[in-house]
This record gives sequence, structure tokens and C-alpha cells, in this order.
Amino acid sequence: SQVYNFSSGPAMLPAEVLKQAQQELCDWQGLGTSVMEVSHRGKEFIQVAEEAEKDFRDLLNIPSSYKVLFCHGGGRGQFAGIPLNLLGDKTTADYVDAGYWAASAVKEARKYCTPNVIDAKVTVDGLRAVKPMREWQLSDDAAYLHYCPNETIDGIAIHETPDFGDAIVTADFSSSILSHPLDVSRYGAIYAGAQKNIGPAGLTLVIVREDLLGKSQTACPSILDYTVLSDNDSMFNTPPTFAWYLAGLVFKWLKKQGGVAAMNSINQQKAELLYSIIDRSDFYRNDVSPANRSRMNIPFQLADSSLDKLFLEESFAAGLHALKGHRVVGGMRASIYNAMPLEGVKALTDFMQDFERRRG
Ligand code: PLP
Repeated sequence: SQVYNFSSGPAMLPAEVLKQAQQELCDWQGLGTSVMEVSHRGKEFIQVAEEAEKDFRDLLNIPSSYKVLFCHGGGRGQFAGIPLNLLGDKTTADYVDAGYWAASAVKEARKYCTPNVIDAKVTVDGLRAVKPMREWQLSDDAAYLHYCPNETIDGIAIHETPDFGDAIVTADFSSSILSHPLDVSRYGAIYAGAQKNIGPAGLTLVIVREDLLGKSQTACPSILDYTVLSDNDSMFNTPPTFAWYLAGLVFKWLKKQGGVAAMNSINQQKAELLYSIIDRSDFYRNDVSPANRSRMNIPFQLADSSLDKLFLEESFAAGLHALKGHRVVGGMRASIYNAMPLEGVKALTDFMQDFERRRG
């Protein structure tokens, strides 16, 4: 029986990729060992690493003036990595707060600078929303601007493309990278933990404009230093090789699906289907303004919260796993990253309609 995993992360990987990894697990490339066991400096792994980077660059159309770094440390590692690398001699940076993860980035940044926090949270027609970018008040002396385009917990997304002239824009794309086309040239740095749309946890991707290298703070740990990582082809220390290999398989799978444009269209269909069922009656509710609804993480509440437990038990029994909402928000949340097929969302919406018929 088919199981669909709606976890916010670590999240579902494409079934084809897992199958290939399973087949190759003990005997990779006929070497009689696992990819986990070979040297990251050997020619076999170097080829995997280079191909993964090339495919990632192709998928996002990353200009040659940008470095791609394969790092340890997760999204939270980069909450420190961004200020430690990009503050230079400045003492402040603009931080847009539109949700849980943006606020977490601010908290970490306070260790290194005095962030200018732009509170972008607003209410529109009684629904949670984000101020449009043109209303963000940037400060004159900020080293950079930081924001999070997809708030994994709140289910809030900022769909606009930044256009702030010379300001250096940095963004936490942990939960939406590769889910839609992206104009990398609008950013100074982009980062994303791998465990949602890329591969297993343990790997973090950073895309950084080359001219921003060389400004890290003296206290920046070498493993977070973009210049050190770039000079060492992301192999200053032993990289998370298995995660890097799996990410490479996911990138090849994405290319086979038609790339990021194709994913964007499927992701749109998936999100529209789920929101349409939520909006159809008062039985379910999502309290995010339509313009800021996430296509990756969709929180929803049952009007009668005393049914939450039953909903979760019955959905789990139906093969629909990990639908419990984050403890901060409550209710339910369906994370529908690239690896979630349309059939998975159909199975969920069929279940939701059936549950409503029986319990509404
Ligand atoms: N940023 C976003 C948008 C996230 O969703 C998460 C985790 O879910 C993080 C940062 C933190 O990532 P990590 O657990 O890899 O440090």
C-alpha cells in the first residue's frame, strides 16, 4: 500500500532516486564498496561532486559569476554564515521578519551585528499576509538585506522577485529551492538546507556572488567561510558525501522531469488542488492571504479542533503520513515539495473530502 509522506523535513525523496540508491548502496560503480566509503578526493567521487554542481547550476541557470558551495551546518548554520561572511566592516544589516524562520535568522544575526528588523507581517481581510517589497524600509548603512521567501511553519510565501538596486539581497530558500524558476542574478547569496527539495539532511547549498568573497570576519569558523570553501571546492573538511551523491541523483531526476519550469507547473497544480478543497467549505480553514500562500507548506485547521486527533489517526491509517501541524501553529500541515507527486495530493484531498462527509 502506497504511503505519502507530508513531512516538512526531512521530507520525501523521489521514489526512483531511493530505488537507485538502494541498488547501488553496497556496490557503487562496480567498486565493491558504498559511495559512503570512498575518499572524497578520489576521482570517482570528484566526478559525482562536479556533476552535481553542474546539474544544480543548469537547473537554476546560475551565472558563472556565482560560486556554488556544498556545506555542512543546515539552514541555521547559514543564519551565522551570512553575517560572518557578508557584514564586512558594517555593523548592521536589514532583516525582513515575515515568519518563524526569518525571526530565527534575526536572533542568530544579533550575535554579530545590530540587525535593522523590518516587520513585514500584516493582516489583510483578517488573513495573515506580508507587506509588498516596495514597502520594505531598507536602512542606508546595511551590509545586506535578508529575507525568507517561504516560511515552512507559517505557510507564508513571498512570491515577488527582489529589485532593490545595488542592495545585496540574501535569502533563505531552504523550503522552496528548485520548486520554481529563480533569477539568481537578483541575489548576493542564496542558501538552502537540503532536506526538503534537494536530498537528505546534512548538506546545505550556498550560491554566492563571487565579488562578495574575501570579506569574512576573522572569527568566522573556516567551515562557514565562503572563501575557504570556494578555494577548496567545498572540500576544506570532509563533506557530507552521501548527501552530496543523493542530491546529485535528485538533480538528475529533476532534469528528467523537465527541470524547474516543469516542477513549478506541477507544484502549482498540487497547491491549487489542496487549497481548493480547504476553501470549499467551513470544515477546513487556512488563514493566509491568497497572495502569500505557500505552494510548498500548506497549514490548515479543522473548524472543530476536537476532531484533530481522529483526522491524524485516520489519515495515517490511509497512508497519509506526517500531517500534524507544527506545535507553534497547531492543526495540520501538508508539505508538498517536489518529490510529492500529484497523486499524493489527490489521495490527501480525497481523504479530506471523505472525512468531511463522515464527520461534518
Ligand atoms: N530555514 C527554513 C526556511 C527552514 O524551513 C528550516 C528548517 O526547517 C531552517 C531554516 C533550519 O534548517 P536546519 O534545520 O537545516 O538548520
